[in-house]
Amino acid sequence: MVQPHNKTPDSPPPKLIDNFGREMNYLRLAVTDRCNLRCVYCMPEKGIDWIPREAILTYEEMHRLVRLFVELGVTKVRLTGGEPFLRKNLVEFLARIRQLPGLRHIHVTTNGVLTAPHVPRLKEIGITSINLSLDTLRPERFFRIARRNEFGAVMETFHRILEYGIPLKLNMVVYEGLNEDEIVPIARLAEKYPVEVRFIEQMPFNGNGGFRRIRFSWKTILETLKTAFPGMEPLAPGHSTAAVYRVAGFRGRLGIIGGYSRVFCETCSRIRVTPRGVMKTCLYDNGVLDLKRLMRAGASDRVIQQAIRETILHRAANGFEAEKRAPRIHSDSMATIGG
Ligand code: SAM
Ligand code: SF4
Repeated sequence: MVQPHNKTPDSPPPKLIDNFGREMNYLRLAVTDRCNLRCVYCMPEKGIDWIPREAILTYEEMHRLVRLFVELGVTKVRLTGGEPFLRKNLVEFLARIRQLPGLRHIHVTTNGVLTAPHVPRLKEIGITSINLSLDTLRPERFFRIARRNEFGAVMETFHRILEYGIPLKLNMVVYEGLNEDEIVPIARLAEKYPVEVRFIEQMPFNGNGGFRRIRFSWKTILETLKTAFPGMEPLAPGHSTAAVYRVAGFRGRLGIIGGYSRVFCETCSRIRVTPRGVMKTCLYDNGVLDLKRLMRAGASDRVIQQAIRETILHRAANGFEAEKRAPRIHSDSMATIGG
């Protein structure tokens, strides 16, 4: 049985350490499963079975959870989804959690469709960085991938974020047959702009279960980049899921995320909370603790924190182990997991 932490005003926050000695200090909170795009690798054209509104965490519940995790030693929070900016008053929620003592970094991942008008306020509240999804630079191809005609709005967000000087990462999912020929053109954005461009292996969370093994793995992405930029040099590994590279003459950097090959599990520090309020300790698990149920049953802060600590001690060693424990996961959409 895990003992509760006896806090004194001066004691440092306890650390959440899993059964393999990994420190869990990064929370990814999916604030909604709703989306205004229908990216082919994330969900079917008709969408997914949307979670009923009353089953989605309220802002009060999310605020409480973020506070509880920060008290347990989480220092970094990312809001994701679905599309986070579809949720009303998202920026004010970000401003509220910004005030939590101990929370050092707040980030958001967005598709950029509705984001541009919020950028000044995001700057004002001191958001640490924004991840913007950008799978193509061609408007007609954008429509084929996202099934909506929103390329212009996304590019407006891109330029607005740069204009306001908010650190920016671009996420490109490499989808075989659709956009692999744009790896190099999109990488070149890091030559012109101070951005980190990250290439993501396609993962099996497309909401319909029909996933075939990818051929375009991180190795192929790396070879493609090295051929185009022979001077590319790896940077020392950090706690990021991305392997990051510098290219001489580039203002930004390049990154590769082997999310399907699961090459980063040894140092994974991520906890996810889904829009339904279920905690996941791996992308590939099926949810390991129902935090919403605990909260709605009236559990105290101490009981919830203890449940979190205990759950962390049963974490799978890596994504392959987690997947073995959760064989149905492949019918999920990344929008309900919180990618
Ligand atoms: N809607 C926002 C967006 O697209 O940026 C945030 C949520 S989205 C699920 C988060 C990230 O997951 C995006 O960068 C998206 O490209 C990525 N993603 C979604 N489905 C994926 C999949 N099957 N494999 C790899 N990455 C995926
Ligand atoms: Fe929506 Fe993001 Fe999924 Fe695309 S990847 S459908 S933008 S949640």
